[in-house]
Amino acid sequence: MARVVILGAGISGHTAATILRRSLSKEHEVVVVTPKEYWNWIPSNIWVGVGLMKREDVCFSLKKIYDKIGVHFHQAKAVAIYPEGSSELSKPHVVAESTTPGSEGQTIKVEYDFLINATGPKLNFAATEGLGPDKYTYSVCTASHATEASNKLHEIIQEMKQGKKKKIIVGSGHGLCTCQGAAFEYVFNVEYELRRHKVRDLAEITFITNEYELGDFGIGGAHFKRGGYYIHSKVFAESLYAERGIHWVKRAHVQKVEPNKVYFETLNGDESSLEYDFAMLLPPFKGHEISAYDKNGGDITLKLFAPNGFMKVDCDYSNKPFEEWDVNDWPKTYQSPEYKNIFAIGIAFAPPHFISKPMKSKKGTPITPTPPRTGMPSGIMGRTVAMSIAEMIKQGTDRPAYESPFAEMGVACVASAGASLLNGSAASMTMYPVVPNFKKYPRHGRNISYTFGELGLAGHWIKRILHHMFIYKAQCKPGWFLIPE
Ligand SMILES: Cc1cc2nc3c(=O)[nH]c(=O)nc-3n(C[C@H](O)[C@H](O)[C@H](O)COP(=O)(O)OP(=O)(O)OC[C@H]3O[C@@H](n4cnc5c(N)ncnc54)[C@H](O)[C@@H]3O)c2cc1C
Repeated sequence: MARVVILGAGISGHTAATILRRSLSKEHEVVVVTPKEYWNWIPSNIWVGVGLMKREDVCFSLKKIYDKIGVHFHQAKAVAIYPEGSSELSKPHVVAESTTPGSEGQTIKVEYDFLINATGPKLNFAATEGLGPDKYTYSVCTASHATEASNKLHEIIQEMKQGKKKKIIVGSGHGLCTCQGAAFEYVFNVEYELRRHKVRDLAEITFITNEYELGDFGIGGAHFKRGGYYIHSKVFAESLYAERGIHWVKRAHVQKVEPNKVYFETLNGDESSLEYDFAMLLPPFKGHEISAYDKNGGDITLKLFAPNGFMKVDCDYSNKPFEEWDVNDWPKTYQSPEYKNIFAIGIAFAPPHFISKPMKSKKGTPITPTPPRTGMPSGIMGRTVAMSIAEMIKQGTDRPAYESPFAEMGVACVASAGASLLNGSAASMTMYPVVPNFKKYPRHGRNISYTFGELGLAGHWIKRILHHMFIYKAQCKPGWFLIPE
């Protein structure tokens, strides 16, 4: 009997848990440790954030699904890993704090034969003074944050209906944010909502970003083939903002937020501020604070994790100059180099370097989007690692049988730009590969036949269909495993 423990039940962890359960016979155990009892289809939080969907439309109970398919479930937050066991428990194990209502804070120890870290990002609002829903700005990173954002947005829409002018800021709340796509999507949905409520003329909307150019998205931008010519994602993105009358501030690091004022510096050293009535600013991400100890109780956290808290996997972390990086620096199996029975997937793995060129302001402040690990690659990593572990258990080896090189993955991103079945739209973008490979594709770093960007109603329909399809799949309804990640 082998036990596989998965920390985190987001896109990557839940995918891994369901595929493992399907691949392994019942004598083996699949255990999920995650602090929340529900699963959240995060991409649709954008629609919750403008009031077009409710929390219940994007979240469902995990326990019911796990009971149905035979996955053991602990509602708890992992705090430590003992990959060699400890003086109290000889087997490798995880220590977690219960978050189950009624037994919060109780310590749980879960032994494992294989461990998958799929804990995603810690939303690091503390990196910027005044940032976040506990302070002055809103977020759409969780369904509850998005509900609060929607409530505030609709409050100011009501005031606009009384003729009051309002200032709205959307974007990155720090110079090292990732996930610009989510902010991009949210600002267009807000703009669309204001038009729908016939108050657009009373709102001044500004998009603030740490991207060097709009459309960088932390992947160094992309070229798209349009008819007989190529355009850069900068042109594609700028035209979308310009057509909607949305101002933008780029190359910016938000230094501080006060009630109604955002202070920022830009790469050229300028310091400035913007006033706001409503601000949705994404936080930078870091890894969750999970410590690691050897069998003698010695702290080996930095052996397993990078200083930013993300877990080290089969990447090249030699810290070579940005100009020298190579696609082979990116992971293929997601296996820890230190412990062959530990893997990290989704946002939880530590990227080897930036994809967008790292830059600093004159004051030395880093202002560069960090590499994204979006939903589709996260799901693919979940599947690959689940299949590898199932095979490792069956064959009794410590070599992963499957690979999905991150640098060879493509991404498909459908960014909603107004949710209406008849006159909504979405920017649909595909990129292959997500990490540019200038050796293989010297001109643009990507295969231009599979890299495109388009805006239209069809994209909105696709986004809507994906919402229902992925929730169906995550709920393990009949035939769920036929739906690709
Ligand atoms: C607003 C928004 C919109 C987005 N839209 C898109 C989109 O349109 N398309 C796209 O491809 N991507 C999108 N993304 C990105 C996508 O959501 C992420 O790529 C994806 O969720 C990453 O999956 P993950 O499993 O790594 O992390 P998550 O999905 O964040 O899951 C992490 C899990 O770990 C749990 N956890 C946290 N701490 C612990 C701990 N200590 N112990 C145990 N468990 C823990 C969490 O509760 C959670 O269940 C969006 C992101 C945001 C914020």
